[in-house]
Amino acid sequence: MIPSVLPTYNRAPIAFVRGEGSWLVAEDGTRYLDLGSGIAVNALGHAHPALVATLSEQAQRLWHVSNVYRVPEQERLADLLVARTFADTVFFTNSGTETAELAIKMARKYWYDKGDAARIEILTFEGAFHGRSTGAIAAAGSEKMVKGFGPLMPGFRQLPWGDMAAFEAAIGPQTAAVMVEPIQGEGGIRAMSDDDLRRIRAACDRTGALLILDEVQCGMGRTGRLFAHEWAGVTPDIMMVAKGIGGGFPLGAVLATEAAAAGMTAGTHGSTYGGNPLGCAVGATVVETVSAPDFLAEVGRKAGLLRQKLEALVASHPDVFEAVRGQGLMLGLKCKVAPGDLVTAGYSEQILTVAAADNTLRLLPPLTITDDEIAEAVRRLDAAALRVAPATS
Ligand SMILES: *Cc1c(COP(=O)(O)O)cnc(C)c1O
Repeated sequence: MIPSVLPTYNRAPIAFVRGEGSWLVAEDGTRYLDLGSGIAVNALGHAHPALVATLSEQAQRLWHVSNVYRVPEQERLADLLVARTFADTVFFTNSGTETAELAIKMARKYWYDKGDAARIEILTFEGAFHGRSTGAIAAAGSEKMVKGFGPLMPGFRQLPWGDMAAFEAAIGPQTAAVMVEPIQGEGGIRAMSDDDLRRIRAACDRTGALLILDEVQCGMGRTGRLFAHEWAGVTPDIMMVAKGIGGGFPLGAVLATEAAAAGMTAGTHGSTYGGNPLGCAVGATVVETVSAPDFLAEVGRKAGLLRQKLEALVASHPDVFEAVRGQGLMLGLKCKVAPGDLVTAGYSEQILTVAAADNTLRLLPPLTITDDEIAEAVRRLDAAALRVAPATS
């Protein structure tokens, strides 16, 4: 009999009842060190006092109003994002998937308004993940996501990851946009090099194609800058943001330049919940906290500490791990064993991690993780690695 909850997830048999900072507490009282953060969502950890205060205060005042009216909380968060990024304008969504939908629509409308309605091709990369809507699965194009779901939205062309020659050959006057994660998350914590990102930006400038960066997972301070592309010194035309920006409240945002967004006039897009006062109030506290230079510097410092310890962990388990990769507090352990086995072994050591593609174990701790918790996390990962290490004779 089908469960009352549609069984589309492979769930671990653990249920949490409470969260405190970097820790999750299960029904039986067991405390788990959380290196998954709800897949990079709980950027400030669980039950962060500033977020609890903002949410409670807003909840007593106003939850929802229609976008038929002005929403001051939305204007405040948009102003913050515009002040701290390349963007001139922001549209709020409830999820990452919805940001993919708007990014795609915006790119198509841009060329339509230029009198080039046939210019719809969007280049994406193998291993990409942009969400689960019919548009977003067409963009990613992987067999696993699209199989069985019928005709896909046309216009996407997937290119091999990291093959700049293939990219240079593919981009041209038919390219409407290039859509890329600066660091692939689901794809296995695969970072595009700063140089490759600059080459993509240059190719977009040459051909006129719009650059859409998907920073849903790698953005919001995760790499030690507010957004990952800042490391490469380039800016996108359109950027997708979600996950960490709500700190656990469902919130996403599409950021764009005035030129890229020019066609999105009244009536061309909308959302009932998108940009509701609760989400935007929380989002503003997250953005204010994370974008503070001291906070980002701390992320960078702690990332260095974690990475150093992980390099040592990899060196001491050469039959389990291959390498550390990623940037900031978005790190991956490329494994020689099935990463899912390490995730399961981690449950026995009360540490939460997430598997990703390309045989990678993902570590996405709260950006607020402490030095002591980093040391404890690596001790527990070491114990988990011992559990899965192939038997030696
Ligand atoms: C999670 C994710 C999405 C989709 O976000 P949802 O909120 O699950 O819809 C899109 N892009 C990237 C890079 C992601 O990591």
